[in-house]
Amino acid sequence: MIKIFKFGGTSIKDIENIKRVAEILDDYSDDSLIIVFSAMGKVTNMLEEVTEAYVKKNGKAENKLKVVKDFHAHLIDTLFESDNSIYNEVNNLFVEIEWVLEDEPNPDFSFNYDQIVSIGEMLSTKIMSAYLSEKGFKNSWLDARGIIRTDNKYRNAKIDWKQTITFCKDKITYFPIITQGFIGGTSENFTTTLGREGSDFTAAILAFALDVKQVIIWKDVDGVLNADPRFFEDTEQLMKIPFKEAIELAYYGAKVMHPKTIQPLQRKSIPLEVKSFINPNKDSSIIGDFENVEPFVPSYIVKENQILISVSDKNLSFIVEEHLSSIFTLFAKYGVRVNMMQNSAISFSVCVDNDRHKVPTLLTALKENFEVHFNENLIMYTIRHYDEDSIAKLLINKELVLEQKSQNTIHLVVKDK
Ligand code: ADP
Ligand code: ASP
Ligand code: MG
Repeated sequence: MIKIFKFGGTSIKDIENIKRVAEILDDYSDDSLIIVFSAMGKVTNMLEEVTEAYVKKNGKAENKLKVVKDFHAHLIDTLFESDNSIYNEVNNLFVEIEWVLEDEPNPDFSFNYDQIVSIGEMLSTKIMSAYLSEKGFKNSWLDARGIIRTDNKYRNAKIDWKQTITFCKDKITYFPIITQGFIGGTSENFTTTLGREGSDFTAAILAFALDVKQVIIWKDVDGVLNADPRFFEDTEQLMKIPFKEAIELAYYGAKVMHPKTIQPLQRKSIPLEVKSFINPNKDSSIIGDFENVEPFVPSYIVKENQILISVSDKNLSFIVEEHLSSIFTLFAKYGVRVNMMQNSAISFSVCVDNDRHKVPTLLTALKENFEVHFNENLIMYTIRHYDEDSIAKLLINKELVLEQKSQNTIHLVVKDK
């Protein structure tokens, strides 16, 4: 039976965790495994900084790249003998980035981003494949760009499902396989990425394509919690999560999963386990065909760095369909995703991530035809299955800017007092 395992950046962030992953895999040596790895630790963030510096041409790209090189050098120096071929492979991957840095940046920021940032997953999978082989876990390294076919919407590429399914069935015929999460390839052989945290999505795509019955995402927490433990104390583990609930949580920004991950699994009723690689004997959280979430407790989602944009007609007339249609056209054109929206007679308010590559150009475009006001440095809290206590808890020391309620979900846009 094929099983898909995904290990995120945290699970391979240092020597101790990498060794832990090898131990876990030892227990599954009889299974037909496809193992998906993210980039190690915070490497994706570091490569994002390289890309920013390169595009800004501020002369800092080389130094920023050095940080990434040093991080990997330390790991491979500790894990391998000095004559291992991994040194060459890692070096070649850094040369790929250096070649990019020597050229003029492409006018499309996202294109540059994908060519540079994707190398994080190439590095982690090469290193993990070599290390596991050394430890006696023989495996084959597979280039995800040859199986995950996407369009060329860089930084948020869309899957060409038909081609991807064909490639997966044709090419994944032996096990265990080690491959990269988060990245894909276009028909012209350019590298794309699927959006931050996209490795979970890769695991789901492979599961869908190959009709796999078990997918495990290994994490440094016991499973899916009802809130991000970095922001909240007293979190509780959700043991059973209906697919629909998981989609809602991810959609509103729960960091625990890429929003697109669940749909392919739900379509084929493939359960997804979220399991601790630190305590693998503990019960995992299972996302599957359940009626209700168990335990039934409020779940909290935090989205920081939000901007609330209010748009009104320059002549103070009512906001009507024509306005909405041209406002949405601009949001779509600049790729700005709406986290929450609300309209009144004369204004339309939208809460979005304050992405500095997208929002300033959107604001300029909106201002051509509308009166625009905005409020920055906001936080959006979403509570699923809220009650009065859960709301009160969040509003301590916060100024409420906007609230939106439905039967199961409340959004609170707040500012620090
Ligand atoms: P990985 O590197 O494995 O992809 P993530 O980027 O998903 O790891 O981060 C894992 C961290 O996500 C956990 O250590 C935890 O602090 C945090 N986290 C945020 N929200 C949740 C949640 N709802 N449930 C569990 N962990 C969460
Ligand atoms: N490495 C990518 C990121 O950090 C993808 C992932 O981790 O899932 O977003
Ligand atoms: Mg992650």
